[in-house]
Amino acid sequence: MIVLKNAEEIERMRVSAQMVSKTLGMLASEVKPGVTPLRLDQLAEAFIRDMGGVPGFLGMYGFPNSLCTSLNEQVVHGIPNDRPLEEGDIISIDCGVLYDEYYGDHAYTFEVGEVAPETKQLLEVTKASLYIGIEAMKRGNRVGDIGYAIQRHCESHGYGVVRELVGHGLGKKLHEDPQVPNYGKRGSGKLLQDGMVLAIEPMINLGTHRVRQLNDGWSIITGDKKPSAHFEHDVALVDGRPVVLSTFDYIYEALGLPKNDPVFV
Ligand code: MG
Ligand code: MG
Repeated sequence: MIVLKNAEEIERMRVSAQMVSKTLGMLASEVKPGVTPLRLDQLAEAFIRDMGGVPGFLGMYGFPNSLCTSLNEQVVHGIPNDRPLEEGDIISIDCGVLYDEYYGDHAYTFEVGEVAPETKQLLEVTKASLYIGIEAMKRGNRVGDIGYAIQRHCESHGYGVVRELVGHGLGKKLHEDPQVPNYGKRGSGKLLQDGMVLAIEPMINLGTHRVRQLNDGWSIITGDKKPSAHFEHDVALVDGRPVVLSTFDYIYEALGLPKNDPVFV
């Protein structure tokens, strides 16, 4: 069942989403060689609680931490550990916050120092595909149009689009209907409606789209051990147009990067 949100609920969801954005912005300055994912997790948990929020992932389905930290060939759902980050790593940090009854849930893949050019391109294309997917979340379109747009863009670069994991509706539950695959057919799936809030999250592999799960019961890795990228935003459909509730601007500010992500008006 898809739970539509009214304007007041969407504003409350924006607050939760922005708490995640601020947490990722705080972490952006901490991601460097030598720091451990476990340390990032501790910093994030303290930061979220200081804002009055609750870490959204901690204990969810039994997950042991506040962040999912997925390195290099890990796609998503990596468990923070004490292996220090190394120059050339990439790390997807996925974070959830529960505040005022609503969840925020978004993710960014960070570069640790200097990364290989082909990896850098994977990150750029995956982030671009997130915004291409968001642009397809508009009146008259269906859920499949979002996945179609993401898939077409990523496959045109020869990348693998993960099938087993998908985006989702977001609200009082972390995972609501509908599922939002990063692949699909034009004009397929549920009709998009005002009041839908979706977590759109392309998970894109440099090589094969195939993935497998590690023995820890959580971490998903690529079938060929090549790197994987992951970016996620929370997006509401308002007056037929996508409104991005989360932002990467705190990250850009911390990293001294231009704030030039697309705005949908
Ligand atoms: Mg997420
Ligand atoms: Mg999500």
